[in-house]
Amino acid sequence: MSENQSRRSFLQNLGVGLGTTTAAFAVPSVMAIQETKLQKDEKKLGVALVGLGSYAKNQLAVGLENAKNCYLAGIVTGTPAKAEEWAKKYNLPAKNVYNYQNFDEIVNNKDIDIVYVVTPNSLHREFVVRAAKAGKHVMCEKPMATSVEDCKVMIKACQDAGVQLGIGYRLHFEPFTQEIMRIGQKKVFGDVRFIQTNFGFSIGDPTQWRLKKAMAGGGPLMDVGIYCVQASRHVLGEEPLWVTAQYGPISDTERFKDVEENVSWQMQFPSGAMVNGFSSYKSNIEQLYVSANKGFVQLSPAYSYGPLKGKTHEGDLKLPVVHHQTVMLEEICKEFLATKKFPTHIGGEEGLRDMKILMAIYEAAQTGKRISLV
Ligand code: NDP
Repeated sequence: MSENQSRRSFLQNLGVGLGTTTAAFAVPSVMAIQETKLQKDEKKLGVALVGLGSYAKNQLAVGLENAKNCYLAGIVTGTPAKAEEWAKKYNLPAKNVYNYQNFDEIVNNKDIDIVYVVTPNSLHREFVVRAAKAGKHVMCEKPMATSVEDCKVMIKACQDAGVQLGIGYRLHFEPFTQEIMRIGQKKVFGDVRFIQTNFGFSIGDPTQWRLKKAMAGGGPLMDVGIYCVQASRHVLGEEPLWVTAQYGPISDTERFKDVEENVSWQMQFPSGAMVNGFSSYKSNIEQLYVSANKGFVQLSPAYSYGPLKGKTHEGDLKLPVVHHQTVMLEEICKEFLATKKFPTHIGGEEGLRDMKILMAIYEAAQTGKRISLV
C-alpha cells in the first residue's frame, strides 16, 4: 500500500473529512501530524507575540523556535526590559519590536503575518481587534475573551478586515487527545454514556490577574475548566443541551475574594450522555474518563503540557509524545499556507461556543437553575 493510500484509509477509519463529523469537531489526525514532520516547507510565516508572560516565553516561543513553517518575527510588550532581552535572544530587528502604544504601526510591517495574543483574558478583545484592523491574521489564547459579547466583536472585526482568527486550542493537535476524540465520536467502545472530567491546580501569588474577575472573567472555570468543556464536546461530537452547576466552599478568603475557588457542573448531551465536570484553583487534579457501553478510555494527565498518558480497558495507549505548541503552530501554518485559512475547528466560532457554555455554567451556579443551551 502506498503512503497516500495508507493515509487515506487511516483518515477514512477516523471519519475525518467524510461528512460523518461536523466541521466543529473535525480535528486533524495523528497521521497528519506525522506527515507534517516529514515535509519541508519553503515559506515561513512571521508571528508576533503580544504579551511576553509565562505562556509566551516558556511554551509559544519554544514552539516557534522548533516549528518548520513559522518563526518569531516580532514582539509586542509593555515591559522595556523584556523588549531588550527578547530582541537580543531572537535577533529581532528594532522595527519588529512594539509596545502597546505603537502596536498599530504593525500594519506597515511585512515581516508579520500573524499576531498571537497572549495577554490576560480581558485584553484579548482589544488586541485581536487592533491586530485585525492592522490587517494581520490573529491567533488568540484561550479563553477567547471574558464574555460572549467580546467574542462576537472579535469575530466580526476579523471578518470585516478579511483576516483569519484562531484560538490556541493546542490539544486539538495532540495525539492522545485526538485518539480519545476518535474513540468517542466513532463509538469504538459503543455509545459514550458518561464522562468525568476534572482540571485543577493550586494557585500561587494571591495578587495575580487570574484571581481578578475583571481581568480573568472568572476563576478556574475560565482558565482550566474550559479544557474539560472542550474535551466533553469533542469526545461526544455533540453540543450540550443544558447545564447545572454548583460553586464549592471558599476555604481561602485571601485569594478568592473575586472569583470561585472551585466549581462543579453537569451537562446533558443529545445522545443522552451525561458529563460531570470540576475545576479548581485549590485541588491538583487532571483527568478525563470516558465510559462507553463496551469499555472505557481515560487520559490522566489529560490537559497539561505532557507527556499525557492514556489507557482503555484493553491496555495503555501507545502514541507519539509531541511538543503541543510546536505541532499546533505547524499545523495551523501548514493549513494557512495551503488554503489561506486557519483550521475551522480552532476558529473564533469555536471560542464563542465554549464561552457560551462557560457563561451558562456560571449562571447555573449563581441561580441554582438548570440553564438551557438550545
Ligand atoms: P502571564 O501573567 O504570565 O503573562 C501575561 C503577559 O501579558 C504579561 O507578562 C504582560 O506581558 C502582558 N500584560 C499586558 N497587560 C497586562 C496586565 N494589565 N497585567 C498583566 N499582564 C499584562 O500570563 P500567562 O502567560 O500565563 O497567560 C496569558 C494568556 O495565555 C491567558 O489568556 C491564558 O489563559 C493563556 N494561557 C494558555 C495556555 C495554554 O495552554 N493554551 C497556558 C497558559 C496560559 P508584557 O510584560 O510583555 O507586557
